[in-house]
Amino acid sequence: MKKITTSLACIMLTICTFAQAPGEKCATMTQFNQRVLNNPEVQTRMDQTEALTKQWLENHPNALKKKGNNKSAASVYIPVVVHVLWNDPIENVSDAQIQSQIDILNEDFRLLNADSLDPSHPFWIYTVDSKIEFCLASVDPNGNPTDGITRTYTDVVSFTANDEEKFTASGGHDNWDPTQYLNIWVCNLDASGGTLGYAAFPSDLSANPEFDGVVIRYEAFGDIGTAGTGGFTANDLGRTATHEVGHWLNLRHIWGDEECGDDFVNDTEIAEGENYNCPSFPHRPGNLCGSGPDGEMYMNYMDYVDDYCMNMFTYDQALRMFAALNTERVGLLTSAGCDLASIVNSTMNEGNFEISPNPSNGVFTINSAQNSTITPVVYNLIGAEVKRFNGINQFPYTLDLSDLPNGIYYIKNNRSGKSTTKKIIISK
Ligand SMILES: [Zn+2]
Repeated sequence: MKKITTSLACIMLTICTFAQAPGEKCATMTQFNQRVLNNPEVQTRMDQTEALTKQWLENHPNALKKKGNNKSAASVYIPVVVHVLWNDPIENVSDAQIQSQIDILNEDFRLLNADSLDPSHPFWIYTVDSKIEFCLASVDPNGNPTDGITRTYTDVVSFTANDEEKFTASGGHDNWDPTQYLNIWVCNLDASGGTLGYAAFPSDLSANPEFDGVVIRYEAFGDIGTAGTGGFTANDLGRTATHEVGHWLNLRHIWGDEECGDDFVNDTEIAEGENYNCPSFPHRPGNLCGSGPDGEMYMNYMDYVDDYCMNMFTYDQALRMFAALNTERVGLLTSAGCDLASIVNSTMNEGNFEISPNPSNGVFTINSAQNSTITPVVYNLIGAEVKRFNGINQFPYTLDLSDLPNGIYYIKNNRSGKSTTKKIIISK
């Protein structure tokens, strides 16, 4: 009986697949596998990253609070540069459409999305505020102000999801330093197929930085303007970018890209395969892979359902993204891309301060204007005070935090109602 049901489901799934625009929704794994074929070391690097991820997760079991956490500040702000590549003027998406995508990323990663699961839903307990936020970069790689958008007219009528978007020489745009920015290209992608986007995994960042970033087709970007046009009505809420940025932070598809495959995450139910459209809950309860009675977590951003049907990352997915941000993508934690103010204030007004080196082994040098007195307070990732220093007025000052464990901290100085906060990393 179970088998007959499953066969029927497979037939239904096939029909559903072809009801979509032809082609593959997300080309991330296809692209990755092709790269492995060309160079087996790509797989070796992926395996090494997996080992590093596992180790980091074992060492940081409480990096993120579970349910009950209030809406505190983000732990990480990721600067984004959007490279618009256009041939037909309609592909030259507006600033407002780009901002709509940034807003959606922030809502989805911070669990502020209006369609998040109700607490009565059995999977609500797995939903998470990942504490990751995004901003359009305000400082470019040369330290100059920017709106975080590049616009390039290209002779390329349609890109083919094969990295040519990432190079000025092939009609695209070279990426900005990918250790400091999330690069997103928006373009006419795979015009004759249904590919919505693809992403580079963190494992190849150091070996092939020029390939790093996320590519999204212009009809599946943001939720206004061209979003949902060209037959992509199911992809009109900006969730393609949420999904692809998930890959970029080392998440896999929840079905592990094979029947009952592994996504290296513990709290997503094991799935027979990808899901399309919008199944009803519970979907495939007690599936072939041995899922629980609640079935598959089709509403996860890392599945293939329609935009309006997906609404969550899980706690363990968020931890995995944190692992990426503390290993391969650690440069983002100290990127100045979101923070024009810190550059402008580098003349160091009273109360402002600078700290170096960063990351360090725990011994930092703090600098401020000579007429300043600062009272730095050190907070950990979840906002708990871990150290406090009283009135420092001689600079440079050696700030010894070497007794604190490795990790990310914030140093805050309050001065006349204004505060300056710096993010530091201790890595011994
Ligand atoms: Zn994908």
